[in-house]
Amino acid sequence: MEWPRNIKTLTTDELKAWLRDVNEKQYRADQIQKWLFCQQVRNWDEMVNVPPALREKLAEQFSLLALKEDQHLVSVDGTVKWLFETHDGHHIETVMIPANGRYSVCVSTQIGCAQNCAFCRTAKMGFTRNLEAGEILEEILSVNWYLKDNGLLDEEGNIAQVTNIIFMGMGEPLNNLEQVHRVCCTLHNQKLFNMGAKRMTVSTSGVVPKIKELVDRNTPCCLAVSLNSTNNEYRSSVMPVNRVWPIEKLLEAVDEYIRRTDNYVTFEFVLIQGITCTPKAAKELIRICAPRRVKVNAIVLNDGDDPTLHAPTPEEVEDFLAAVRAAEIQITIRNPRGRDILAACGQLAYKKEGKKC
Ligand code: SAH
Repeated sequence: MEWPRNIKTLTTDELKAWLRDVNEKQYRADQIQKWLFCQQVRNWDEMVNVPPALREKLAEQFSLLALKEDQHLVSVDGTVKWLFETHDGHHIETVMIPANGRYSVCVSTQIGCAQNCAFCRTAKMGFTRNLEAGEILEEILSVNWYLKDNGLLDEEGNIAQVTNIIFMGMGEPLNNLEQVHRVCCTLHNQKLFNMGAKRMTVSTSGVVPKIKELVDRNTPCCLAVSLNSTNNEYRSSVMPVNRVWPIEKLLEAVDEYIRRTDNYVTFEFVLIQGITCTPKAAKELIRICAPRRVKVNAIVLNDGDDPTLHAPTPEEVEDFLAAVRAAEIQITIRNPRGRDILAACGQLAYKKEGKKC
């Protein structure tokens, strides 16, 4: 078997198998993973209860650090956006959103994205490759390192740690489900990050068979679906995924998810002036949501590159929310965070110097 190059990608069992192959004791796997994910070390030598000879073998076989920080930008609202370089010279972005002592991290799961949604800037990058679990986990660790290095505290006055993960950065997480599943399991592992499944949200543009697979795998996470429109014709025109799995198929998968997990689903709904933020659209959204255990997370359109799409006025947004709430559907509006550093929804895209994205 060819081993993944980053040690954080390995499951405990895989690490044990490797240790067996190199004639080392199995219990070292727990020790090593504690250094990686509890102490969150940044170099091999910090693993002081791992014998130097084994540390050397590890360093020969695996990389410890997967990402190189190119820069980070801090928004006026405290949101931080990182630009990381991968080992093969590509770039991804990670966003940390602080709110009331909680620190949410929006992670990228792919380099670029193949979904090609008209309103999303990441689409303009095209798709390069999936991220390895170790790379995604390091996005999260990097935020913890930042919190620690800057002395940021949680509500109890301890060094803050990331509290919530949203898989809503660059890429389509369900097209990289194998690695996303690994990440969720490592985060959920009581001995490692011990993060509750309710604190991790995987968001999909609507890759229907993978929603079913997520349930089959019992991945510890919540599900969000970027519904964005209730009209097949329009949805297909801005989200090509809808041409393969139209709204009816998507709702079938959502219903199956709710039935089998006993969890609710969040619909993300981008509000676009005159299109998805109209009285008619509100009515259709109510029709879809009323019979289901769902919540709606409305997002006002952030500036993208399509000059034909505009954000609604605050009054239009209020009217839309009021109409949906009147039908007793739970709807919240996501406050745009980090717009000044292009860190808001749909704004993640790496621009090479001199090249327009
Ligand atoms: N590919 C996954 C994960 C990305 S999540 C998915 O589609 O769910 C990114 C979220 O931002 C999605 O809900 C998407 O609908 C939303 N989004 C994309 N472009 C946006 C924009 N310009 N303004 C507001 N939200 C946007």
